[in-house]
Amino acid sequence: MYDFIIIGGGILGMSTAMQLKQAYPDRRMLLLEKESGPARHQSGHNSGVIHAGVYYAPGSLKARFCLAGNRATREFCDTHKIPYDICGKLLVATDDEEMQRMEALWERTAANGLEREWLSAGALREREPNIVGIGGILVPSSGIVDYAEVTRAMAAEFERMGGEIRYEWSVTALEERRQEVLVTTSQGEVSSRYLVTCSGLMADRVIHMLGQKPGFTICPFRGEYYRLPERHNRIVNHLIYPIPDPSMPFLGVHLTRMIDGSVTVGPNAVLALKREGYRKRDVSLLDMSRMFTNPGILKVLGKNLRPGLAEMRHSLSRKSYLELVRKYCPSLQLDDLEPYPAGVRAQAVSRDGKLVDDFLFVNTPRTVNVGNAPSPAATSAIPIGAHIVEKVKALVEE
Ligand SMILES: Cc1cc2nc3c(=O)[nH]c(=O)nc-3n(C[C@H](O)[C@H](O)[C@H](O)COP(=O)(O)OP(=O)(O)OC[C@H]3O[C@@H](n4cnc5c(N)ncnc54)[C@H](O)[C@@H]3O)c2cc1C
Repeated sequence: MYDFIIIGGGILGMSTAMQLKQAYPDRRMLLLEKESGPARHQSGHNSGVIHAGVYYAPGSLKARFCLAGNRATREFCDTHKIPYDICGKLLVATDDEEMQRMEALWERTAANGLEREWLSAGALREREPNIVGIGGILVPSSGIVDYAEVTRAMAAEFERMGGEIRYEWSVTALEERRQEVLVTTSQGEVSSRYLVTCSGLMADRVIHMLGQKPGFTICPFRGEYYRLPERHNRIVNHLIYPIPDPSMPFLGVHLTRMIDGSVTVGPNAVLALKREGYRKRDVSLLDMSRMFTNPGILKVLGKNLRPGLAEMRHSLSRKSYLELVRKYCPSLQLDDLEPYPAGVRAQAVSRDGKLVDDFLFVNTPRTVNVGNAPSPAATSAIPIGAHIVEKVKALVEE
């Protein structure tokens, strides 16, 4: 029997496993991942931004963990010699309405304790000659990294300390007993005193396996990107973000400098017809039937019909997608948008039809489960892992 089993080889599972092993070096630990390697889902299909913590409600877990995670990610990368670049982020307002929203964001960045600078249209032009706007906020502490590489380094650290990882072990059933948790997998049964689950797009299904009814469902939103041709690698000096609409959960299509030197445009947010379905044509009848009979998801779709249809239009037409980015980067042309792999976000939706905003955990006597961990969870992976370790310690000491 193991002392701890962790399900999920994304950045949250690996960060938790690594920190749990640091806290309990002599205990037997096993991490189970259904794919053939680490970071095959969200942790390997994202924008690679080390967020600073601009948007999140002051005092929320997202605000706290993002701020701490920004620092912790850099320290981890320094220790493990992983390249990163603190290139800063520019939020750009292109009209009076966005300027008003930008003023509200300015207040929020203060409440969240961020260093930032207000830029006039002239100052914006000086810093970013290819970007147009009537003003901007510069947040110097945002940066970029390859989170798949961070995840791999965490896995290596866990194994170096004696933790075991089994890839291609898919968990199919869980049974929580008085003294142990029985884990049934595609490769056989294992058991453990305590269990942590960080199963991303499958979070609700894994929590259901424990006999829990968590009150939310994961709704998969595909984020589609394009990459700019190499000649545009220096088109921007910072990460360029629009001013987000506060009624929408996602940040809007941005220009992101990637750690390999390229620049991506995206991501948008379209309902995915398959969890872990990365191509437009990926459809799962099972996922769809569960989604379209779920009252919470139906409410979200009903409330967001217009923006949802607009996102679909941008997804189906490159020309329409281009318009989103030309608003602040007018020199880009249609043939500048080259294909780039999409990602799928796991977003929890509550039974009453709300997108769950903050990070969310579900506890049982022997388990700690991540329920909702959308962006900025990659940035926040180290504080989230530390938070889970504290929750586990509380269970062990009970
Ligand atoms: C398009 C996009 C852009 C993003 N951009 C950013 C960004 O710039 N910055 C940022 O901070 N965050 C960003 N995020 C969010 C971030 O990537 C995620 O919040 C983070 O990666 C979540 O990590 P995770 O470990 O919870 O999930 P995942 O990486 O999805 O890992 C979950 C793992 O659990 C495994 N699993 C599931 N079920 C089972 C089972 N039954 N048995 C065994 N294994 C199982 C899966 O195979 C998977 O490997 C972005 C996300 C997306 C999709």
